[in-house]
Amino acid sequence: MEIKNITVIGGGTMGNGIAHIFAQYEFNTTLIDTKQEYLNRAINTIKTNLERQVKKGVIAAEKIDKTLNFIKPTTNLEEAKNAQLVIEAVFEDMAVKKDIFLKLDKICPAETILATNTSSLPITQIAALTKRPDKVIGMHFMNPVPMMKLIELIRGIATSDETFKIIWDICLKIDKTPVEVNDYPGFVANRLLIPMINEAAYCVMEGVAKPEAIDTVMKLGMNHPMGPLTLADFIGLDVCLAVMEVLYEGYSDSKFRPCPLLRKMVQAGYLGRKTGRGFYIYDK
Ligand code: NAD
Repeated sequence: MEIKNITVIGGGTMGNGIAHIFAQYEFNTTLIDTKQEYLNRAINTIKTNLERQVKKGVIAAEKIDKTLNFIKPTTNLEEAKNAQLVIEAVFEDMAVKKDIFLKLDKICPAETILATNTSSLPITQIAALTKRPDKVIGMHFMNPVPMMKLIELIRGIATSDETFKIIWDICLKIDKTPVEVNDYPGFVANRLLIPMINEAAYCVMEGVAKPEAIDTVMKLGMNHPMGPLTLADFIGLDVCLAVMEVLYEGYSDSKFRPCPLLRKMVQAGYLGRKTGRGFYIYDK
């Protein structure tokens, strides 16, 4: 099956980036969100990011309008029926995703592949909601999508080799680097990253070192571009805690116990950059 038409559901942080990259590579891209104002915001963000790419010399100036012309924003989910590939990037909430996948399974032709950009929910469970579990797959893009090369391709228990191969090839077409991952809690990226952040929080809680010192150790000692606590503030401490909970529950293993300090900070509303305070304090 040749993929020409893509539908992206959700025009937030990830969805607008996913629509951007597919449109940039000249796929007819339908972008769906619940309100026109969310779509306007998504298109404005894409435009700003395209302008940034022009300034950096990544794309030519005429590519801005050309890319935007490949994107059709709409609030009508039915429009997903024309796509050979639908990528869902709505809130990280199983109830919301469930509703979308049940509807998509009815709206889309039987051969359409349904992908989810979830960072932590089980692909196998999402696939089982549909009558086409062999055509459901995880496409875990990294933020910011236009810049980050990696896509974790997650095989649910029933994902077919054919589906996997089609999606692998499309990742290459948009100049990304896919990696094959099986469906276990946290996949690979978050299973490694979030416990490191959690352990850094334990180091703060136990008074092993101050946040600045912990970040410096990882930056200068391990060559990480950003320390784990600075990164945690970027990601959002609520998101980090939620992923730790998924790991703890998913493996029933005490090695994934969320750090009590992380939990306390989330309870206090210290969520990182977005609230002006996390492990560091930010100017509003
Ligand atoms: P976000 O909150 O920025 O955007 C979600 C968008 O989905 C919003 O625009 C919202 O209006 C829309 N939406 C909600 N319900 C909808 C519905 N029923 N129909 C259509 N649109 C709907 O969230 P995000 O950060 O872009 O995350 C989206 C997904 O990507 C989540 O599953 C998240 O776990 C995953 N993810 C996020 C990141 C990240 O760094 N933010 C990285 C990788 C994966």
